Amino acid sequence: MAKKRTLKEINSKIEKGIVRIFTVQELIDKLEKGEKINFEDVDVITTATKALMSGIAGIFSFRLSPPKKVRKFVEVSINGIQGFPGPCPNEFLGIIDLILYGTAKSETREDYSGGMLFRDLVEGKEVNVKAKSVEGIQIEKTLTLKDFQFARLMGTRQAIRNYFAMVNPTEKDVETIFSVLALKGNFSQLTFSGCGAMNPFQNDPNAEILGIGTKILVNGQIGYIMGPGTRNDRLKPNLQTISDMNGMDPEFMGSFKTSYGPESICSIAVPIPILNEGIWNNIVKSDHEVPLTVLNVVGRFKVGEITYGDVWHKNFVVKFYPDKCVDCDDCPVDGKCPTRAFDLKKGIDRSRCFNCGTCYYVCPEDAFDIDLKSVKVKLKGMTNEKTIPVVLRQSDRNGAIKLAERLKKMILQGEFKLKEAMDPLEFYPKVF
Ligand code: SF4
Ligand code: SF4
Repeated sequence: MAKKRTLKEINSKIEKGIVRIFTVQELIDKLEKGEKINFEDVDVITTATKALMSGIAGIFSFRLSPPKKVRKFVEVSINGIQGFPGPCPNEFLGIIDLILYGTAKSETREDYSGGMLFRDLVEGKEVNVKAKSVEGIQIEKTLTLKDFQFARLMGTRQAIRNYFAMVNPTEKDVETIFSVLALKGNFSQLTFSGCGAMNPFQNDPNAEILGIGTKILVNGQIGYIMGPGTRNDRLKPNLQTISDMNGMDPEFMGSFKTSYGPESICSIAVPIPILNEGIWNNIVKSDHEVPLTVLNVVGRFKVGEITYGDVWHKNFVVKFYPDKCVDCDDCPVDGKCPTRAFDLKKGIDRSRCFNCGTCYYVCPEDAFDIDLKSVKVKLKGMTNEKTIPVVLRQSDRNGAIKLAERLKKMILQGEFKLKEAMDPLEFYPKVF
């Protein structure tokens, strides 16, 4: 008979302090050491992803003028980033509701985008708000997150079940959202996205646990799954989520500058209670189980397949050795770091570093260290395997592990109660 346990039983174990929780990474590490772990040994697995998530937006509401001063705001910006007033027209009360996109660029600040603004707000920094009313009245204010009566982060397409690796088969360099520097041609470089075994959907492929109302962590703060994300098909399942910006940890968010423009960084952690053997069997036990499709970056069609085990294995953290830095005249790393984590004088700001590998790739000396790996790919139409060096990771496995560990700790300390979803997630037919 299939083995089962109920959520009530798991929550009772949490209260008694006898629950057995592992992050996916801990489980993998134990299995690699030869430990035997079965359904009986695990009550909860914590999964997470820290990645570029284009589909995030801030939803804000705050007082901007005395009541009855303006009828309607028609323009609004924060730190030079255009927002969209509404949908609720509260301005006659002196309050503005607005939506602002994570990928939107500032018109007044160089290399500044919505993702950075969200992080600045969470860090408690002052922001500059400008608005213009339908009557032509202009209002400018300096505010902090404390002045916002409502500040939520909404994701329309998040925690996609892993993603793809990209190569460029053409002769020319290609500027793309899948690279920091233009992606060089002739299959000479590979970039990839996805936290592999850690990814929430990868561990719950049939959405038996992930559902409408499931409690999750978004950037370290408690949030909820609102429903399926855009284009939530079986191939690329993803989530729509909501969470309060108050209480988020800036370390898990921000912006990442690709060669095509800014992308937002967001991190999601999801607990998976092991309610039956089927759920346990779907938990990823090795990155080699998780396929990573290699696409032609031009046209995005499949040219090969590897696994996440080829790109992720104990190679999560990029290190900087200042004593090996020779202080080049015009440091090529300075200014190329996509998260602004590197400063020649201060080194790597670990709270901003995405462990992407760009610094290692760009620095001509050995001042940075990371095993970015080279992968062997059997490319479509070629007889022999080709070895291609990885030059960029667009997901931060180390950040995902940290968030999964944080979720585990919160569950153990009784700060995060496990609850069942209200309704299942709907999968849509694939549209393209
Ligand atoms: S390129 Fe490398 S060695 Fe040269 S200044 Fe920059 S970090 Fe130092
Ligand atoms: S790995 Fe290097 S380039 Fe990438 S975010 Fe960290 S410091 Fe910046």
